[in-house]
Amino acid sequence: SDLLDSSSLTNLILNIQPDEVYNLAAQSHVAVSFKNPLYTTQVGTEGVTTILESVRSLSKDKKVSFYQASSSEMYGGSGKQVFNEESKFEPKSPYAAAKVFAHEMTKTYRESYDMFAVNGILFNHESPHRGETFVTRKITKAVGRIASGTQSKLTLGNINASRDWGFAGDYVEGMWMMLQHEKPDDWVLATGETHTVEEFLDKAFSYVNLDYKKYIETSDEYFRPNEVDYLLGDPSKAMKELNWRPKTSFEDLVKMMVDADLKSAKVEKIS
Ligand code: GDP
Repeated sequence: SDLLDSSSLTNLILNIQPDEVYNLAAQSHVAVSFKNPLYTTQVGTEGVTTILESVRSLSKDKKVSFYQASSSEMYGGSGKQVFNEESKFEPKSPYAAAKVFAHEMTKTYRESYDMFAVNGILFNHESPHRGETFVTRKITKAVGRIASGTQSKLTLGNINASRDWGFAGDYVEGMWMMLQHEKPDDWVLATGETHTVEEFLDKAFSYVNLDYKKYIETSDEYFRPNEVDYLLGDPSKAMKELNWRPKTSFEDLVKMMVDADLKSAKVEKIS
């Protein structure tokens, strides 16, 4: 269903009568949000409001739990801070601004109508299914092709940016745990470790015995009008209250993604 088609979205939810609703929908790419701010805003704000209204109406007859995919991008920040549920939001992109709206709207419905509505404030979460325009997958895809001899260069933007990268599979488990908790609330999911894009590059290329410095170029095209330089999350509340754990290390995440893209590059080469 199209998030901007509010009547079909409402009908869909009222027909299915779900027990749990997870709203992961958004225009989710930060750089794209600078190029398409209106679309990013519409999807990010109208979509969640339509879903919250439908869930509110269903909630009159039975318990319906609602999960909103909030984002570490909402923190923005400057300098090297550790963010938790109490940290202030300073969005630096249309993507992040729309996410702040959806976060506050979810809280508003929770408090106004006593709904089971939660915000999961997730730091970057990656996997072999990550979109190819996000930096982790762009790197592992390139490593696969360079190792197969079908690509020679990788063009990136700011490789000094630092992110708290975890494995999406671990985070999806955390999302589900939030909806099973006795009380609705907001929780951060993060690994508690941060790494630069350059460290990701180094790990990914050295895993196949290549030196990333021989392949990297930078282009203005991949720099953003405003940048979130450093993200590091503190997941202690989720660890304590939900008994959630980030199980996959940074190193294992990089290897998992490179292994998958070594395979896909081989398939590409013969087809
Ligand atoms: P984000 O944290 O949600 O914006 O996830 P991304 O994977 O898109 O970007 C993570 C960081 O990598 C940001 O600080 C980007 O500026 C930086 N970066 C550097 N080069 C690139 C690039 O070529 N593509 C993307 N997507 N990000 C890049």
